[in-house]
Amino acid sequence: MSAPFWDQTPGVVLVRKTMRASDAERWLSKQKEEKRRSHPDSVGDGYKDQALTFLDVRPTDALRLLYAKAWFIMQHMTSLDYIRDLTEVIGPRGSTSEEEAKAADYAADQLKQIGLAPQRQTFLSATSAYAPYALFAGLALLSIVLFWQPQPVGAAGAAVLTGTALVSLILELLFRSNLLRWCLPVDESQNVFATVPCVAHSTSADESPAQRCAQTVVITAHLDTHRTPLVFHSPAWLKVFRLLMPLGIGSAVLLLVLFVIGVFVSDAILRQIALLPGAVLLAVFVLMVQADQTPYTKGADDNASGVATVLLLAERLVQAPLQHTAVTVVFTGCEEVACYGADAYLQEHGPELRNAIHLVIDQVGGAGTVPCVVRGERFLAPAPSDPGLLAIADRVVAEHPELDATTLNLSTAYGELSIGVKHDLRTIALGSLRKDGTSPHWHKASDTLENVDVAVLERSLELAWQLLRGIDASVV
Ligand SMILES: [Zn+2]
Repeated sequence: MSAPFWDQTPGVVLVRKTMRASDAERWLSKQKEEKRRSHPDSVGDGYKDQALTFLDVRPTDALRLLYAKAWFIMQHMTSLDYIRDLTEVIGPRGSTSEEEAKAADYAADQLKQIGLAPQRQTFLSATSAYAPYALFAGLALLSIVLFWQPQPVGAAGAAVLTGTALVSLILELLFRSNLLRWCLPVDESQNVFATVPCVAHSTSADESPAQRCAQTVVITAHLDTHRTPLVFHSPAWLKVFRLLMPLGIGSAVLLLVLFVIGVFVSDAILRQIALLPGAVLLAVFVLMVQADQTPYTKGADDNASGVATVLLLAERLVQAPLQHTAVTVVFTGCEEVACYGADAYLQEHGPELRNAIHLVIDQVGGAGTVPCVVRGERFLAPAPSDPGLLAIADRVVAEHPELDATTLNLSTAYGELSIGVKHDLRTIALGSLRKDGTSPHWHKASDTLENVDVAVLERSLELAWQLLRGIDASVV
């Protein structure tokens, strides 16, 4: 029995021989499936379009088209290729580390291969997510020592110290400059970005291609990876972690009240009461210091999956640009230590982004999860996704049941959504989570390639693509 035309096609044989076997099979079978369904939507969808043309040619035509098409297919990277390169070749990519810089170089190389002209932005960032909180707790503990010194000078000093630490912490939680940041080490990090113009609808020679578009979407995906602290170890520890911030702030406020009373009333009982919030702050201090001693995760889901998805989106956009919308893809550094990269990008490009839309793509491929539209996140201040963008996303989710996507609110977590909101952009975030809102390998050593699900990645990519098309279609 002879093999079907598909399997005899020299291009397909070539693909099988040159691509990593499992990826080739997965990709080719997906193309076969697409062809079978002859999905009308695939027209204009870039590489899929080209692959479908490839499948339609007769053997004689194939000889003519073979090399161009086979070359094209071989060049096509899959999301797993990107994730493998980031996690296995480069490895864990701590904020401001050499590996984070290598990941930025890698993203720039891939953008060049897609045909874009990547640019680089360097900035200074904190090196630790936990040091500001350890310093805050340390200053509050030092205040308790002062409180036990001769009064009222000791109480006054304690009140000033704790008050300053508390105000700084609140500014830190709002991603604003503060005393804690000034006292802690910083290092250099980088963003890499490139723009895909729209199908231009103005002929003015004075304007850049991006300016000819009615709107700009900035997509951010972070390159760096988190540490693997005890507080992310299990669901029980995660509950402890979620309590730490309110407990820590509450304890510092209680201390401040005791210190202020202590300036006027010298009573030993006040000092003894102060030991109780002191114990909570000591626990905060120990857990924050422990977190900073742990190794970095490989971050396959968080966030090599997002980087891969944005690279594939960029490739699709180059093949099939949006009608009215320029898209700038930004691969950011230092998200894991308070989103310094996204903040630096939006800060530097503020004037040109006044009416821009910000789309965050973070953790979009975890096994056991479903693609997810983030309605909002809350660290200290709530950061809601833009209602207009949510309406478009809701429509996409409703019209594409095959994506099995959901929408969720995130609490006690920050991401680049908070930074878009801080900069007054219309912002929305996509991720993938379990339906109960959890992420199984979040900030764990198990966030590896094996725990990424290709099917979730593909559905997340499609959700992002349909959302972009919806945003583009919303321009009147
Ligand atoms: Zn992330």
